[in-house]
Amino acid sequence: MSNSTSHARGDSPDRSAELDTQRLLFQAILDNAPIGIWMLGIDGRMKFINDTFCDAVGVTEQQFVASRHYAEVLPLSITENCIKSDRKCYEQVEPHVSMEWLPFVDGRDHLLEITKVKLFDPKGSLLGLIGLAVDITERKAAEDRLHLTAKVFENTLEGITITDVSGYVIEANAAFCKITGYSREEIVGKNLRILQSGLQSTSFYETMWQSILTTGCWQGEVWNRKKNGELYAEWLSISAIKNEDGQVANYLGVSSDITESKQHEKQLNRIAHYDALTGLPNRTLLDDRLKQAVARAVREQSMMAVCYLDLDGFKSINDSMGHDAGDRALIEIARRIKDTIRGGETVARLGGDEFVVLLLGLERGEECSMALDRLLSVIAEPISIGDKFFVLGASIGVSIYPMDDGDTDTLLRHADQAMYSAKQSGKNRFHVYDLALDQRARNQQMLLQSVQHGLRINQFELYYQPKINLCTQALVGVEALIRWNHPESGLLSPARFLSAVENTDVDIAIGEWVIAGALRQIASWRIAGLDTEVSINISAHHLEYPGFIDGLQRQLELHPDVPANRLQIEVLETAALDDIAEVRLIIERCSRLGVGFALDDFGTGYSSLSYLSRLPVDTLKIDQSFVRNLTASKGDHAIILGIIALSRAFELKTVAEGIETEEHFTTLLEMGCDIGQGYLIARPMVAAALFDWAARPIRLFVPTAPADQ
Ligand code: C2E
Ligand code: MG
Ligand code: MG
Repeated sequence: MSNSTSHARGDSPDRSAELDTQRLLFQAILDNAPIGIWMLGIDGRMKFINDTFCDAVGVTEQQFVASRHYAEVLPLSITENCIKSDRKCYEQVEPHVSMEWLPFVDGRDHLLEITKVKLFDPKGSLLGLIGLAVDITERKAAEDRLHLTAKVFENTLEGITITDVSGYVIEANAAFCKITGYSREEIVGKNLRILQSGLQSTSFYETMWQSILTTGCWQGEVWNRKKNGELYAEWLSISAIKNEDGQVANYLGVSSDITESKQHEKQLNRIAHYDALTGLPNRTLLDDRLKQAVARAVREQSMMAVCYLDLDGFKSINDSMGHDAGDRALIEIARRIKDTIRGGETVARLGGDEFVVLLLGLERGEECSMALDRLLSVIAEPISIGDKFFVLGASIGVSIYPMDDGDTDTLLRHADQAMYSAKQSGKNRFHVYDLALDQRARNQQMLLQSVQHGLRINQFELYYQPKINLCTQALVGVEALIRWNHPESGLLSPARFLSAVENTDVDIAIGEWVIAGALRQIASWRIAGLDTEVSINISAHHLEYPGFIDGLQRQLELHPDVPANRLQIEVLETAALDDIAEVRLIIERCSRLGVGFALDDFGTGYSSLSYLSRLPVDTLKIDQSFVRNLTASKGDHAIILGIIALSRAFELKTVAEGIETEEHFTTLLEMGCDIGQGYLIARPMVAAALFDWAARPIRLFVPTAPADQ
């Protein structure tokens, strides 16, 4: 600005001083105004321009004033527009406003809002124009930011609400309105409580607010209700917004509708945890429920029953009616079980026709058995499939906590084992798992393994007990009886270990070992001058084993010097023979080889008589239990008489076992029994002792000292 202090001509000194003061005042105002101010003459020259503008654009007032036109000092890029707007301002009556970007000395372009006003002298002649430039760069940026924010607010897919501290809505965006079904007008001013579904507990909200108060934010899943009442799940994050004083002034809620993904999740959850056919929990979910059930039983000090259920007769529906019918039966059974158990209890399907039911909160054992009886009876009701009716049953195995182990796998395994017992003992019943029984089974298993081991390292030995002709007292044969020379327990008789091998491969291995041992013994005795028949005991399981005859034949072939008729087979446990016709064939084939057969323990099995008529044996061995009571019991006496008569009729030899006294001996002799075996004659003994015994010429029936244990 010009520093001229010259006075206007004709002014008085006072007036002039006043004007000077005024000029100084204006100059100070103009130079310190936050806006750029200038005056442009009609000749286009800059008459005056304030410091604010000069400083901003980095051009001095002198440079402006000295130039013929400001275009000479301002950047070319803007002068064209400025000249245009000058012209427009001259053309119009009202002030002219324009926006211009101008490079400032700070290196940035600033946006100026420039207002140009025409200036007239008091007589109305045009002097030029006044320019006023306001730097609106910051304001514009703020406006732009706000605009952008508003755009984001409106266009985002997340529902956004801003509330006051009490939860009353101040603003809500379009997405929020879309999710909830409320229009902006309807929701603004309302409390967000109107969205609550009642599905969250009070403690849920307490935890949420606790988090907002302590950390300023919260995130989580919430089930809310739309305006139309429909439930929806949202992932919600709430942030507290503080004012400048640090006080919470608003809450910002950002939510996204996750109902669809929840439903998908639910569907996945169903697939992972439920059986597709029956809709019942599957094994995975059952494991979880089992754990919860045990925890509950511990907490409530109550009992809990794990019931393993296997349908009886299901296979026949599947086989006769097809899988669809089978499926329908399973669905029906599942429904019946579900309807029978109490709420909170679980029925799961493990697959096939196996289900598991968890009975909870039991106080007494009877509650469990009553529930199981109910289950059995609803399952046993006829099922109609197509035009047919089927009746199914169930075998249920039960393990009960806390009587049984708390480990859920064990509970389930024990229930499964008990289910097998239920099946074995006749089906359509329940069987409670017996820990002691299980212990016994485990002991048997261990015993089986050590028998197997003992067999491998030759701990077994055959003892021999003579059989004599009761009339002549001559040796007619010996029975080979197995013994176990146990390293710790000493000499063990078969009763101590044979039950463990019953119906196993070890049973067969023992039998083969006995056949081999007996044949070797016959051969070596024959060489030594003792030529006698040796009878061996063969289990029903071994006899019916498909390789039995071939095995026997091979062993006989190994001893061509031993006539096959020196070997006799005593068939044990005749009651356990499954297929009499088949056994008959086996005996016939063995007989053709020359091997003799005896029915052991005759008279004890229920159908001994029918065996007698159908099995081509040559000897009957009267069970020692009859001999024991021979003199005391008329019944046993009569049975023995009967057996002897039968033997005669069938032309069989009779051997009486267990002759312990001379009375036994003489009575049996009188009754017509051919052959006798028993402690009175001799106890079972090792091969060498038998050889010596056989060499003794005279037999005296004075009970001798025990030869074995
Ligand atoms: P078993 O075949 O009826 O054999 C007769 C059993 O009666 C033998 O018992 C014998 O020692 C015993 N005994 C003989 N005379 C008397 C007597 O006067 N009084 C009494 N109280 N008992 C007498 P052991 O040797 O303990 O055998 C028991 C059973 O074990 C046998 O009964 C047979 O069923 C079975 N067994 C024995 N050896 C074998 C074998 O090698 N293989 C198989 N599978 N079973 C065998
Ligand atoms: Mg025998
Ligand atoms: Mg016997």
